Amino acid sequence: MNGPQHSIEQLVPKSLVEELHALVDRPIRVMVICGTQNRTLLKYRDDDILPDNLEIVSGPGCSICVMPAGHIDAFIKIAKQPDVITATCEDLLRVQGSRESLASVKNKGALVEVVDAPVEALDLARKHPSKIVVFTAVGFEGAAPDVAETILEAASEGIDNFCVIPSIRLLPPSLDSLMRDPELNIRGLLCSAHILSITDSSAYAALAKRRHLSCAVTGFSIAEILEGLISIVKQIRSGQPSRGNPFNGIMQTDETLQHSRMMSEVFFAVETDWRGLGSIEGSGFVIRDELSLYDAVKRFNVRFKKGEEELQCQCADILAGRTTPAECPSFGVSCTAKHPVGPCMVAQEGICASYFRYMFGKL
Ligand code: SF4
Repeated sequence: MNGPQHSIEQLVPKSLVEELHALVDRPIRVMVICGTQNRTLLKYRDDDILPDNLEIVSGPGCSICVMPAGHIDAFIKIAKQPDVITATCEDLLRVQGSRESLASVKNKGALVEVVDAPVEALDLARKHPSKIVVFTAVGFEGAAPDVAETILEAASEGIDNFCVIPSIRLLPPSLDSLMRDPELNIRGLLCSAHILSITDSSAYAALAKRRHLSCAVTGFSIAEILEGLISIVKQIRSGQPSRGNPFNGIMQTDETLQHSRMMSEVFFAVETDWRGLGSIEGSGFVIRDELSLYDAVKRFNVRFKKGEEELQCQCADILAGRTTPAECPSFGVSCTAKHPVGPCMVAQEGICASYFRYMFGKL
């Protein structure tokens, strides 16, 4: 049965829309990092909730989308090895590498299983002692503690048929690299509330200070997003971006400190490649030598090489905030939700998939 129907008025508080319209008295560009928040904004795009002078730019906030083709190629190379079970998330299955995807090699006989969490991959390793289970660890910094904990659990139990392809990325260095581009002219960052639970929010505070960014951290409802945008615009108008900046007051809790300890026991940060953003210093994790048994890249002697991106796809420019899905010639023509060309249409958090859903009412 369907839930109660809400009118637009109930979901989008008119007072917030009016306040935002009254406050925006100059052209302002704000980057909304989170795919779910972007999706919510697109849902209400026909309701004139945003002033004309407030431009929303999507950024590199989809961890599947920012994975370059060369990294997918490495996952596929390992998946084709004998006696390997690749444990991966559903979205990653359909993302194309240079020539193939994990879904296509699965159709040809490779053992590829969908899991929702690293512990499920470890369970697969317990169930299949004669196979090596390889977990594709994809995500941003918030995903790292669970992966670190699972590796430490495998090590403490002496499980040797489990390993991880570390492909976790750190958002602050990538945002810092983007914000150096004066043409992008981003004045504010809207972040989702899950950022409050990550281990090192000080990296966001430093980024905001260094790049003079006004920031807000909000939930996912349209009312919360509007409140965040109002806060950002007020900070910009005050001329003091740090006033009201939510990152300044975030304290580490016992839980985040424990996560930090686990992460530094397992990983250290290195330069890594991003689709659309190139190679960024300190933006990826590798597994420490002491735990190299659990590092699939070392175990299978695989390198992340430069892959071939789909030429007709503009995901790279979209992730760098340089264009929008609607400007891609393939959008809605050769690239649809049913037949996605690039990762931004494949992934649930992908901005092309959100545009497609709310511009064409399909998905
Ligand atoms: S619409 Fe499709 S082809 Fe175009 S940028 Fe998005 S994913 Fe790539």
